[in-house]
Amino acid sequence: MIKAAIFDIDNTMYSFLDCDKVASKKIADYIEDNFAIKPEVSLEVIESLKAQQKARIGHDIGAIHSRVIRFQMFLEKMNLPICPHTAILTRMYWDCMLEQMKLEEGMEDFIKDLKGKGVKIGVCTDMTALIQYDKIEKLGLSQYIDFLVSSEESGAEKPKGRMFDLVMKKINEISKEKVYPQECIFIGDSIKKDVKGPSDYGMNGLWYSKYTKDKEIKSRFFKDNDIKIAKYSLNEAMSEINSKLKKVVELNNMGENIIMEIESFK
Ligand SMILES: [Mg+2]
Repeated sequence: MIKAAIFDIDNTMYSFLDCDKVASKKIADYIEDNFAIKPEVSLEVIESLKAQQKARIGHDIGAIHSRVIRFQMFLEKMNLPICPHTAILTRMYWDCMLEQMKLEEGMEDFIKDLKGKGVKIGVCTDMTALIQYDKIEKLGLSQYIDFLVSSEESGAEKPKGRMFDLVMKKINEISKEKVYPQECIFIGDSIKKDVKGPSDYGMNGLWYSKYTKDKEIKSRFFKDNDIKIAKYSLNEAMSEINSKLKKVVELNNMGENIIMEIESFK
């Protein structure tokens, strides 16, 4: 039996894509009401600032996703007052996001079932930490979570080993006996960050493809790594991983670049 399950949050526990659309519209309306800038203009500028924000910060850490920094950069670029609008826009965006979020069907039962079997439940997320805690609470999962690693905390993003080192350190601090990466399962929507990265590290990766399938399959990473997909139901995937564990503990990948895909937590 696996000893720890580590979950991605965005587009894994809920649809980031759907909620972001609504929250972005809300801030675009605020900008239009206050500064008479058309939503299509403001949203395009904000989107274009993503790359600049990343370049300014200089390396991939949680702050590259910070909406405080992004909205501030937007106001600066448009020559608009940063105070109090940076804080207003940031809170408005996240409040709207939290309001929209719905937990993926089947996920709570899945986590409950794992927990009942003594599996530690963790979260590993490329984001600033506070909002991720708010999301977990809003999704009703707080009671199940044993540990969380954010890229704000680790100083690196998935799939950097530094991130997964911290995951393993935390698992081992809360477990009675030594836990190896091979005894852990990592579940998320990004093949690079949540599946291939963890499985190269030695864990078992499981791809939740519901929201990002097209984008992932068209990605450069997918082609460059010559990745093949094997589709499973959640139960099949879990029993395959658990039976593999029984056979050879030190075995990590399913073999070559075949990744296990699930489309539902039911
Ligand atoms: Mg994600």
